[in-house]
Amino acid sequence: MSLLQYGIGVDLGGTTVKTGIVSSDGKIHSQTVLPSLADQGPKTVIAQIKTAIHDTLKIVDGKTITGIGIGAPGVVEKEKGVVKNPPNFPGWNEVALGEEIHDSFGVNVEVENDANAAAIAEAKFGAGKNYPNFLFVIWGTGVGGGIISNGKIYRGPSGGAGEIGHISINFDGPRCNCGAKGCVEVYVGQRHLSMLAAQRVAGNPRSKILEFCGGDLSTIEPLHISQAADAGDALAQDILVKAGKHLGIAIAAVMHTLDFRVSIIGGGISAAGKYVFDAVTESVKSHVLAPMRKDILVVPAVLRNSAGILGAAGLVL
Ligand SMILES: [Zn+2]
Repeated sequence: MSLLQYGIGVDLGGTTVKTGIVSSDGKIHSQTVLPSLADQGPKTVIAQIKTAIHDTLKIVDGKTITGIGIGAPGVVEKEKGVVKNPPNFPGWNEVALGEEIHDSFGVNVEVENDANAAAIAEAKFGAGKNYPNFLFVIWGTGVGGGIISNGKIYRGPSGGAGEIGHISINFDGPRCNCGAKGCVEVYVGQRHLSMLAAQRVAGNPRSKILEFCGGDLSTIEPLHISQAADAGDALAQDILVKAGKHLGIAIAAVMHTLDFRVSIIGGGISAAGKYVFDAVTESVKSHVLAPMRKDILVVPAVLRNSAGILGAAGLVL
């Protein structure tokens, strides 16, 4: 039996910073959650991260720690642990987060983009354990991703690999936040799906979506759409099937480019279940070349909310 190792994982988000002690078998032994106070600028955020790590270290209980791994939004320059322009962190251009944390705690510190960290979590501890090569997709407000190749994260020369949300599926489509047209994120992002559902329910007041959202169209979330779909609502099923179809087109592009067969989908909307996964799978299959088709697999992520901490700790385990 091999001896377990322990690392600290830090999941930095726009609202909270979560830290935890993680063992090399993928168990989280204790967790601390603090507000990240992102609107108060980098100094405050870094102080919050340090406090959270301190709190976690207090309960380490004599275990030797292999280091501290941090998953952060934005582009991460991995060698120096620099986090660049994380969205929803005002005043934050480039911050040498790795150095800051290393100087305070004197242990090995690794920083990685949060989508990549979640991909690493699924590869080491989750749905990707048996797949050395897969595309990881986070499907929520936006669409992000990470590429696991030969069991390791593929970052690309500047750490930007796996930005599947900005693959265009329609060169003439609606404008995306990034400035380009027809990005898949514009078609399947959470906000778009909620809006689309609200519009279509307005013209279809008998849709069960209305029941699940409590009668207020402005509060529709993908969960309500999937609940209605499960209850047999044709409109809800149609919305999810189309979203799955759209996402599948972008995934197929990646399967072709990398000669991959497997994609693992996490994030809020992936909880929408069967309709979505069937639709994505069908779409990927129908958009790849025939010899690839039979091996195409679309798998739900399994780590959910713990993926951030597990993946961050996975950087040092
Ligand atoms: Zn875009």
